[in-house]
Amino acid sequence: MSPVEVSVVIPVYNEEDGLQALFDRLYPALDGLGESYEVIFINDGSVDRSAQLLAAQFHKRPDVTRVVLFNGNFGQHMAILAGFEHTRGKIVITLDADLQNPPEEIPRLVETMRAGHDYVGTIRRQRNDTAFRRYASRAMNGLRERITKIRMTDQGCMLRAYDRNVIDTINACREVNTFIPALAYTFASNPVEIEVGHEQRHAGESKYSVYQLIRLNFDLVTGFSIVPLQWFSAIGTVLSLLSGVLFVVLLVRRFVLGSEVQGVFTLFAMNFFLIGILLFGVGLLGEYVGRIYQEVRDRPRYRIKAVLEADPVRTGVES
Ligand code: UDP
Ligand code: MG
Repeated sequence: MSPVEVSVVIPVYNEEDGLQALFDRLYPALDGLGESYEVIFINDGSVDRSAQLLAAQFHKRPDVTRVVLFNGNFGQHMAILAGFEHTRGKIVITLDADLQNPPEEIPRLVETMRAGHDYVGTIRRQRNDTAFRRYASRAMNGLRERITKIRMTDQGCMLRAYDRNVIDTINACREVNTFIPALAYTFASNPVEIEVGHEQRHAGESKYSVYQLIRLNFDLVTGFSIVPLQWFSAIGTVLSLLSGVLFVVLLVRRFVLGSEVQGVFTLFAMNFFLIGILLFGVGLLGEYVGRIYQEVRDRPRYRIKAVLEADPVRTGVES
């Protein structure tokens, strides 16, 4: 079991139309590095021909290819985590399978890592996504930075490089819902960001619906910070103080002016507003309780059906 310099981790979910194009660009780019490397594909329970295509590629380049086959669809981040457990490179790079991240950028990432950084994040130079996605992610970025103190200019781009130490620390984490770039950022001591190209999806469609994107962002915020809960206590405190003042004012008015019945609708409006805040708080609390539930349940995060590899790294197939 010889260590290699660079490991590339690629999650694959129903990407049959784009995989060949990926192989055609990825391997030459890596061969051009002039260093030892390995590519780890994780088939995240694709229901198309992706698994067969990956197996064929494994048989073509068994020296540098390893394929982890999941038993079902566990999501992009779980796929990457499984990939991490199978890496042995000093530098680990993640990449999307849809060719939105040009493989030709890998040498620059490696170079930046060699300059002494232990984490290289990326900013998409010209982002090829819909205007809505661009706008929504900018708004979310701002909010996330405020809440979690994790400064990622571009959280969506998965073309990133991680140092072995960071990967080992991530491998030791057992979180169920996580966001890998943010996790890595937490552990890195000398992170940096560089600009990279971004292309249109080579084939197929984005696997993320708007709902999933919202979920992902919720996970990102509640998974890395309890600031929302603290904000909530603060709001509760302010509201209690205000109601206390209101109570005193009404009491005084009762004695000075006698009984008053005006302002019923104002009262309704205030009530609805407060109930709204209350429900939001219950929901927010639920997010954290749900997280705790998932963690204590302690189920395996994913199941691996098989690993195609010429030179086994480990025997455990579950995490
Ligand atoms: N992916 C995955 N499991 C999923 C969804 C996506 O492994 O459940 C992979 C997908 O094959 C791709 C990467 O994650 O390699 C990013 O997915 P996608 O391009 O659909 O996301 P977007 O670029 O729209 O954010
Ligand atoms: Mg994509």
